[in-house]
Amino acid sequence: MLFNQLGLAAELLRAVEENGYTKATPIQTKAIPHVLEGHDLLAGAQTGTGKTAGFVLPILHNMRVAPKGARRVRALILTPTRELASQVNESVQTYGKYLPIRSMEIYGGVSARPQITKLKRGVDVVVATPGRLLDHVRQGNIDLSNIEYFILDEADRMLDMGFIRDIRQIIKALPDNRQNLLFSATFSQEIRDLANKLLNNPSEIQVAARNTTADRVEQLVHPVDKARKREMLSEIIGRGNWQQVLVFTRTKHGANRLATQLGKDGIATAAIHGGKGQGARTRALSDFKAGKIRVLVATDIAARGIDIDRLPHVVNFELPFVAEDYVHRIGRTARAGQDGTAISLVCIDEQKLLADIEKLLGRKLEKAVIPGYEVDARIKAEPLRKQGGQRRAGPPRRGKPGGKRPAGAGKKRGNSQRPGKAARNAKRSRPRSA
Ligand code: AMP
Repeated sequence: MLFNQLGLAAELLRAVEENGYTKATPIQTKAIPHVLEGHDLLAGAQTGTGKTAGFVLPILHNMRVAPKGARRVRALILTPTRELASQVNESVQTYGKYLPIRSMEIYGGVSARPQITKLKRGVDVVVATPGRLLDHVRQGNIDLSNIEYFILDEADRMLDMGFIRDIRQIIKALPDNRQNLLFSATFSQEIRDLANKLLNNPSEIQVAARNTTADRVEQLVHPVDKARKREMLSEIIGRGNWQQVLVFTRTKHGANRLATQLGKDGIATAAIHGGKGQGARTRALSDFKAGKIRVLVATDIAARGIDIDRLPHVVNFELPFVAEDYVHRIGRTARAGQDGTAISLVCIDEQKLLADIEKLLGRKLEKAVIPGYEVDARIKAEPLRKQGGQRRAGPPRRGKPGGKRPAGAGKKRGNSQRPGKAARNAKRSRPRSA
């Protein structure tokens, strides 16, 4: 369906068109009319489907006429990570360009001062991670009593990260009369419970089963010895003249090491992971988007919510411990209907991880040996845990679809991206480092 058939205001259509979009994606076609009509919504959609515009556009439409008097926070969008908060806010500003609407992002890991200043000046839309938002609520820096629109984006990830208690606290600060939207890629019982409490007679929509993005990505496995992975990667990037490549490692140390090595090979590279300050992360991402660096090496957690238009290449330098992270990783490419390639450099130690991924995808991945990089049959597999850089596994982020999270996923105050202590101490199934 075309955007101009959805009943959106001219100011929004103009901004959408300037962004290069004329046709709405399936989630947008389904969600926008429900939200415009004022219904609560339970939406099943993964990142990469265009879901952000699916809620931002109709909300901005409904908010376009401001009530008289001082500016008040009328819409609250909660996201699990800072990166996603930033990106959603960017969408609000892009699509709301021709409307007199002010928005801001709120997250931890940076000084609260500038956030307080902005709040004092007055904003209409706040995009926030739960922890820092709650700090502002408790300190009286933000008044949520005028919220008309409340959106939980990537609700499943928020629960996985142990934010449920914060979310409940935030809901308590909201007025009863409001429109609620819940977006989630998966629907565990926990999400259903949250939806039942939060949503009022919601419309339910669902697009694209969880692995469809993965199916659109051209995927290839290159068997290689571990010690030769970096050399192989440099060669692939150089030979293909790849200009924008997102590379995944399992750990932040691995990310740093690889970024340094690729830099030595003459490939402009930056690393992005939880050990870096917010400033460095934002800078690396914007340099990557702007084409100033060719390669961004990321860990799984740091890469959540990274949204790069037309990202052509994703490389799994190391396979993830959790098979579902593979789907998330390669979902960074081939977004919103575009094509992309994802290659995985797989050494003998990672055969089990590869088997897990193939099981999840329900098919074998194509393998291609690159001449000159044939694996050395004398090298025996070693258990991954014994190798450097991997530490204790971290909190499980995403169970099987419909699966339950371990109990006690509480949350430590003050850093909106860190999972709760209980979650961190819970029996771990994936690397903690990111
Ligand atoms: P999201 O699922 O919201 O993270 O969006 C994924 C990507 O799709 C983003 O890069 C958007 O800019 C892009 N996008 C959103 N709407 C459309 C559309 N109607 N057509 C093409 N791309 C879109």
